[in-house]
Amino acid sequence: MATIKTIGVVGAGTMGNGIAQVAAQAGYDVIMSDIEDRFVQNGLKNMTADDKNAVMGRIKGTTKTEDMKGADLVVEVILEVMDLKKKVFKQLDEITKKDAILATNTSSMSITEIASATARPDKVVGMHFFNPVPLMKLVEVIRGIKTSDETVAATLELSKKLGKEPVEVKVDVPGFLANRLMIAVAIEAVRLYEEGIASKEDIDKAAKLGLNYPMGPFELMDLTGIDINYHVMDYFHKELPKELKWDPPLSIKNMVKAGVLGRKTGAGWYNYNK
Ligand code: NAD
Repeated sequence: MATIKTIGVVGAGTMGNGIAQVAAQAGYDVIMSDIEDRFVQNGLKNMTADDKNAVMGRIKGTTKTEDMKGADLVVEVILEVMDLKKKVFKQLDEITKKDAILATNTSSMSITEIASATARPDKVVGMHFFNPVPLMKLVEVIRGIKTSDETVAATLELSKKLGKEPVEVKVDVPGFLANRLMIAVAIEAVRLYEEGIASKEDIDKAAKLGLNYPMGPFELMDLTGIDINYHVMDYFHKELPKELKWDPPLSIKNMVKAGVLGRKTGAGWYNYNK
């Protein structure tokens, strides 16, 4: 796999311009494309880097996807619509160097399905940044069913070079890690509220003061968009097993049988094997 020197970013919107900015700040050459020049210019204008001139000097804005031919890794950051993403991946597969990695910033869609639009599914990977990109430390690196170990390793490494803290998601599942957790908490919060058990304010307070969450679930839903939360819930409801929701997972049952209880016993989810 080639050394990554030039990063392509397809889509100059909220997430795309943030990714272009952190890549340029980390010293990479960046090619950022969008469908119209006004979107490219808007993306460049919205960057928040202190050393804006130096950063901008490393970013080439374009409306031509063909310009991605110079990239060693391309991150797709267009709308969350499967058909559009597949179209872009097919095009990128034809345009880019044969050993280039093709990453997607999708928040919910199947990496495996996106990869199926290319002849290099081993080099297709999820690279899920969080909003606002320059501030949020997490990147989820998600494996599609055919993604190679080499691709995952290179993407984890790149994420670190961009100043992020990557986590590896080993199976291509809806919601990956952070959104799956966020939605589980959001659903429980709404149910507690609907059942009249507490006010929204007190549920948020319980999460913040009892669990040390920086924001309560209702505040977070307001920030991220209630419609988006609803669509994600609906998608999980269709895609994830429902009937098992409240069954204690088998691994927890086994841990209890084995006396691995956490608390003061010295072994729990951490130090499990000691
Ligand atoms: P956005 O609407 O702000 O930006 C998308 C951009 O892609 C637009 O400027 C659009 O013109 C451009 N575009 C569309 N088709 C294109 C094409 N063929 N070639 C080049 N550019 C094209 O969207 P966003 O919020 O930045 O989200 C982009 C992706 O990131 C989505 O998959 C979304 O699910 C994911 N995501 C979003 C967030 C978030 O908080 N906004 C967080 C994590 C992941």
